[in-house]
Amino acid sequence: MSLSADLHKRRLSAVAKGVGSVVNAYVDHAGGGTITDVDGREWIDFASGIAVTNVGNAAPRVVEAIHRQAERFTHTCFMVAPYESYVAVCEQLIELTPGTFEKRAALFNSGAEAVENAVKIARHATGRPAVVVFDHAYHGRTNLTMALTAKNMPYKHRFGPFAPEVYRAPMSYPLRDGGLSGAEAARRAIDVIEKQVGGSNVAAVLIEPIQGEGGFVVPAKGFLPAIAAWAKANGAVFIADEIQTGFARTGQWFASEDEGVEPDLITTAKGMGGGLPIAGVTGRAELMDAVHAGGLGGTYGGNPIACAAALAAIETMRELDLNAAARRIESVLRPALEEIAAGDPGIAEVRGRGAMIAIELVRGDGEPDPTRTASVSKACHEAGLLTLTCGTYGNVLRFLPPLVITDSDLHRGLDILRRALRT
Ligand SMILES: *Cc1c(COP(=O)(O)O)cnc(C)c1O
Repeated sequence: MSLSADLHKRRLSAVAKGVGSVVNAYVDHAGGGTITDVDGREWIDFASGIAVTNVGNAAPRVVEAIHRQAERFTHTCFMVAPYESYVAVCEQLIELTPGTFEKRAALFNSGAEAVENAVKIARHATGRPAVVVFDHAYHGRTNLTMALTAKNMPYKHRFGPFAPEVYRAPMSYPLRDGGLSGAEAARRAIDVIEKQVGGSNVAAVLIEPIQGEGGFVVPAKGFLPAIAAWAKANGAVFIADEIQTGFARTGQWFASEDEGVEPDLITTAKGMGGGLPIAGVTGRAELMDAVHAGGLGGTYGGNPIACAAALAAIETMRELDLNAAARRIESVLRPALEEIAAGDPGIAEVRGRGAMIAIELVRGDGEPDPTRTASVSKACHEAGLLTLTCGTYGNVLRFLPPLVITDSDLHRGLDILRRALRT
């Protein structure tokens, strides 16, 4: 039996079934654009651990920073005895996020925790209850973030009841909303918010600038600025969930920048820690500082090793210009995928931005094709390419390579995908 098969057997009698894995191969080491399992099999990495290892796996600067910090101290709790690296990460977040207004930041452990805290801050600062989210949204797996997330299976099924005062508005989804313009789709969403919630009840409008788990849905131009303008006019906090899109993934530090949107609050996690668990909420000082001392925090939030890793990851992004790298990855992937799509009527659309690109698969009648999506994905895994699926209908194949991947690994990955789509 292979070592992976052996480990898998152990897993089945030790790890709860509710925790799934995309592949049943157990990792030995990973770096740059590849992952190698305990049997020596190698995968080209088009997943980045779900948009986390933007700087590559075991990135040298990150490894070195973790090592140095672990020797000095591993934990004091920032709320007990503070340290410089926490402050430095907040300074970086303030500098890198869009908006030149006065900002503050706070650190947490996971994306869901950042989203929860952004909602806490918005409710506290406005004194209002309602949170508006969108169709296809994904914001996490805790009780509040399950309520904010759209899709039932697997995230919410039989896990309710959910937190109240969450309202869902229609998203701009050009492939599936009849090609509404951004302005038209925003008018449709705003109409739902005004009629069903009431502007003066809205604490926050929360949105992913490009949806992640929901299917890499890129709203039509003008949608985000119109929603942000509505929030401003109605005294609601505009929160951009940039947990998947942030930190150079889309070719800019944050996807909101693409249309010059300056969110009141931004949630970050995934790519910011170079592989270590760390998350942040960054935004307008008057909102962030409205909360009483002790109202925000947690035992591990901004753990010193995670902060050291985040600072090293950000330094790596700057030095290697990973925003340019993400745009270069798009310049390789997009034309290749468009060429594949031109000869394959089952591919309805190639979309995304930077190193966050996807194809949506449909059947002959235009309906979503989750069956083919799953089998293409599986064929990729068997041939040595790690890909992920996503989408409300499970019919989107998404590509999230580490931003340090080589062109040769990108082309090898594309070759595997081409063959997988043909079988
Ligand atoms: C992954 C993700 C989250 C949740 O982050 P966790 O660290 O898994 O809790 C929230 N929002 C978006 C957009 C995400 O992609």
